[in-house]
Amino acid sequence: MTVALVWFRNDLRLDDNPALRAALDGGFEVVPVYVHDPDGEGLSRPGAASDAWRARSLAALDDELRRRGAALHAFAGHAAPTLAAVAAACGASAVFWNRRYEPDIEARDARVKRELREQGLQAESFNGSLLFEPWTLRTGKGGPYKVFTPFYRAALTRWAPEAPWEAPERLPVPEEAPHGLDLAHLRLAPKRGWDGGFWSMWTPGEAGALEALEAHLDSALHDYANGRDRPDRAGTSRLSPHLHFGEIAVSRVALAVEAQRGRIADTHIDAFLRQLVWRDFAAHLLHHFPHTVHSNLDARFDGFDWASPNRTTLESWRRGRTGVPIVDAGMRELWCTGWMHNRVRMIVASYLCKHMRVHWRVGADWFAQTLVDADLANNVMGWQWVAGTGADAAPYFRIFNPVTQAERFDPHGDYVAQWLPELAPLPVPLRHAPWRDPQRLAAVAPSYPLQPLVDLARGRDDALLAYRRMRNDA
Ligand code: FAD
Repeated sequence: MTVALVWFRNDLRLDDNPALRAALDGGFEVVPVYVHDPDGEGLSRPGAASDAWRARSLAALDDELRRRGAALHAFAGHAAPTLAAVAAACGASAVFWNRRYEPDIEARDARVKRELREQGLQAESFNGSLLFEPWTLRTGKGGPYKVFTPFYRAALTRWAPEAPWEAPERLPVPEEAPHGLDLAHLRLAPKRGWDGGFWSMWTPGEAGALEALEAHLDSALHDYANGRDRPDRAGTSRLSPHLHFGEIAVSRVALAVEAQRGRIADTHIDAFLRQLVWRDFAAHLLHHFPHTVHSNLDARFDGFDWASPNRTTLESWRRGRTGVPIVDAGMRELWCTGWMHNRVRMIVASYLCKHMRVHWRVGADWFAQTLVDADLANNVMGWQWVAGTGADAAPYFRIFNPVTQAERFDPHGDYVAQWLPELAPLPVPLRHAPWRDPQRLAAVAPSYPLQPLVDLARGRDDALLAYRRMRNDA
């Protein structure tokens, strides 16, 4: 039998893993490999919360492999020479992996493939993470999509999922393979344990991902179209970090949800599948417009007068001390759990980009550091959408009012009370706008800001003025 390396990256699962399947179908013995190469990842270099997740996810993958008679061989270094050296050490003739679609990673992987092939190795990559790879859906004129709805329609017409592939109970492995590093030596887990609050909510790894899917099918999916906008309920799947790290195949998720038709109303199933297509749309945009990692997709905003962020005000936003409860609750949820509800992500992003007029990149950088689901494509698309600079974005002049949003989507104030317990004694609607009764606020929560960092009406007017100036200058 000849040997193949299976290079694991953001596909940390065995189930329905096309690279692993290709190795087994090709009759190879497999050496599962992980290469820690943060420098090679450029702008996709993971943040601290991502690393904390990855540390656990790699350990879970290693456990799954050991259960099947194999193990994860971990190395640190540049990907191409490391893979070539490992292949030489175990006599491998092939390297298989699943593709990623971020610009710096695509460029790195193209180099890796070329260099491995130049050394006579078979190097093949596969789609293990999207329903549609970025180049498969095209507009009538053959170009990329910039608007979601036609992309979504095209996706619905073309969707023809295959039954998922299940990994075998035992994996054929060669007698000798370089042992590699102990996973702890990759130093991914935080030293100071600031991630302690994460793990009551999350179980990184394939088993945790399947559990999250099962839980979603049993509960949130039944009312997803209504519940998905309510941060005070467990109304969404919380699959995002599992999908980001490829601990579950998106096609398996989509098929499992699709199979609920008849048991769960179509509105909920359609609404959920639509969100999975948003994920593909983000990858599509990033692949075709790679400059959007740091520049506006809508170039008219290049002349926008962003405010220079002052360190203290920025820190108030980051730490959840803006004095606007729904914003502060979201930022504290993020800090404590590594995740934030989508509706609240939009509210905190809008407050930063519009009321504080801070460039969306500043917010995107903070999310990239603190989210366990930090994903370059989704994050950039989300921030540019809220800032009004991106694809299919709401017009700039539609500015979220955080109080109205809170009253609508957290009607009983439960979400605010959960993350800002000091405000729980205040009745709703005061809990969402406590500055309206400063005396009462000071009595129940003396350390909470008495006034919002940026007054809501003034912040809105200033943002609109800056927008009008930009249009007049253009
Ligand atoms: P569900 O509602 O259960 O959706 C199922 C899956 O669909 C999600 O797991 C996710 O993979 C995908 N999805 C859902 N909504 C979106 C969306 N708007 N865009 C793209 N994919 C989506 N998502 C990330 O995964 N990583 C990020 O770094 C990220 N940054 C964001 C930044 C901002 C400013 C905003 C507004 C949104 C961002 N999102 C990001 C999208 C969205 O907030 C999360 O995907 C969602 O909250 C994850 O929770 P869930 O798994 O319970 O979602």
